Amino acid sequence: METIESGKVVELAYTLKSDSGEVLDQADQKDPFAYIHGADQIVPGLESALDGCKVGDKKKVKVSPKDGYGEVREDLKVSVKRTQFPENVKLKPGMQFESQDADGNGIIFTVEAIEGDQVKIDGNHPMAGQTLHFEVEVLNIREATEEEMNHGHVHGPGGHHH
Ligand code: ZN
Repeated sequence: METIESGKVVELAYTLKSDSGEVLDQADQKDPFAYIHGADQIVPGLESALDGCKVGDKKKVKVSPKDGYGEVREDLKVSVKRTQFPENVKLKPGMQFESQDADGNGIIFTVEAIEGDQVKIDGNHPMAGQTLHFEVEVLNIREATEEEMNHGHVHGPGGHHH
């Protein structure tokens, strides 16, 4: 029987809850979530917990911020000048846009507040600092195709369509 290991495409049904029990995200059997194991597509704490699992396995996995979306970093909360944004964009709190950090890694920033000609932005993941409570069920495991490995994502159900 197939087990989950690097290079396998895994289909999951899951529910993700916060510490307070709020449902943050989910996927069910009809619309499963698919990812390539070992390709950093899911949080490290969940990926390592799924290592070696088989189809039909159900698991509750508690993931600390360190193994999830990271601790909240104060240095990612910054103020920038309004003029750094295109003039035709009407800025509102909650808006997200992509930028790069000093190392050229893509970061999603969220607009927190607009104060005069200053815009407060936050580059932390919305789930940073949170303990994540996953309930997962393994629905399917298969070999990733060469094309999927090259693209770095899953094709077909639960993945990309193109
Ligand atoms: Zn593709």
